[in-house]
Amino acid sequence: MAIRSVKGMNDILPEEVGRWHLLESEFRSLAELYGFREIRTPILENTELFVRSIGDATEVVEKQMFTLERDRESFSMRPEGTAGAARAYVQHGVNAREPVSRWYYLGPMFRAERPQRGRYRQFYQAGLEVYGDAGPAGDAELIDLVVTLYKRLGISDVEVLLNSIGGPETRARYRQVLLEYLEPRSSELSEHARVRLNDNPLRILDSKDPRDKATVAGVPSVLDHLTPEDREHWDGLRRALDALGVEYKVTPGLVRGLDYYTRTLFEVTSNAGELGAQNTLGAGGRYDNMIAELGGPKVPAIGFAFGLDRILLAMGERELARAGTCFVAPMGEPALLRGLALGRELRAGGIRTEVDSRGGSLKSMLRRADSMAARICFVLGESELERGVVQMKDLAAHTQTEVPLDQAVTRAAEVLASKPEGSTT
Ligand code: AMP
Repeated sequence: MAIRSVKGMNDILPEEVGRWHLLESEFRSLAELYGFREIRTPILENTELFVRSIGDATEVVEKQMFTLERDRESFSMRPEGTAGAARAYVQHGVNAREPVSRWYYLGPMFRAERPQRGRYRQFYQAGLEVYGDAGPAGDAELIDLVVTLYKRLGISDVEVLLNSIGGPETRARYRQVLLEYLEPRSSELSEHARVRLNDNPLRILDSKDPRDKATVAGVPSVLDHLTPEDREHWDGLRRALDALGVEYKVTPGLVRGLDYYTRTLFEVTSNAGELGAQNTLGAGGRYDNMIAELGGPKVPAIGFAFGLDRILLAMGERELARAGTCFVAPMGEPALLRGLALGRELRAGGIRTEVDSRGGSLKSMLRRADSMAARICFVLGESELERGVVQMKDLAAHTQTEVPLDQAVTRAAEVLASKPEGSTT
């Protein structure tokens, strides 16, 4: 019998790789626009790293790691990217060189899960980590970056779920509150949750078991038990998000599967495309104690991981290709000279742009815009130049609007952040 790939570990064939390249380059360029630099860490780490950072009473460490022993040492394939990046941050004494570091990573992660659509044993994450900024304005900016990437990719149907679980003091207080609520109801809980009552009661809030879901439906909110410092952080985060115009849904039941989080927690869900039940597109949060727990200095940190497989499931074929690209079609030399400047302005605004400087017909330029799957085509002729305007064609929505030249960048950014009319997602 022919040998097949391991279940839940998929080949990405050449005809599919193009979509991955586009997604990865969209992620890289946005991360770099926000001042993040790439870190690459090994796939195999000492098992101890994940036990200490993620926590041994978590599903990931308890059940899902691919672990191997060699010469009496235990190694595990990374189930996520934050622990390895934090280890590298400590190992290389990065905090002594710079007060704030913004890192991103991209790559395969491994978890021994039961495979299904959107849930694999080898999957891909793109992640962001910020070290040295205790927030909350930095948290809001990171959330804004995250939302911007989904918008640029044309996934506008996203919801940001937001919570704070406070620091160790809030956690200890809330643990008591939870135990007081859950212990008298322990007979209604699943067996697994009953074990969790002793070691990690917060995780019961995250349980998928219908019995646990029903039991925790009435638990007191963690947000009512924050210490004054944690509350101040939470209020500051909401003010900053409101100032940025980022929408979110306060979700006190959001706790997340990894133990290292403190204060801010957030998750992005969507009902777009072919996601089905696996509708969490990415997740993140603050982990102010992890660096110190790994033997490093006391440096606060926050991070987010995008699930790339799921982003691709959420996106239509054409939308990905069109994401974020502009084309400028100038007619005649005066228009070309202004068009070159427009191209520069768009790129300065972070928008990938090609200016057609070949001097051909409008038809040939539009054909080129279409073949490179640009989302927007700016058409600039003599009469537009005279009036200080430009025609903006949304090639996905098949609409055309005349916009003042000095507003072209803002208007293009709005279009790129919007869902194309008639799209199926
Ligand atoms: P986590 O590291 O568990 O917080 O996951 C972050 C994101 O990675 C999730 O929201 C998913 O989008 C993605 N993800 C996690 N586990 C898997 C998996 N087994 N298969 C595919 N994507 C995953």
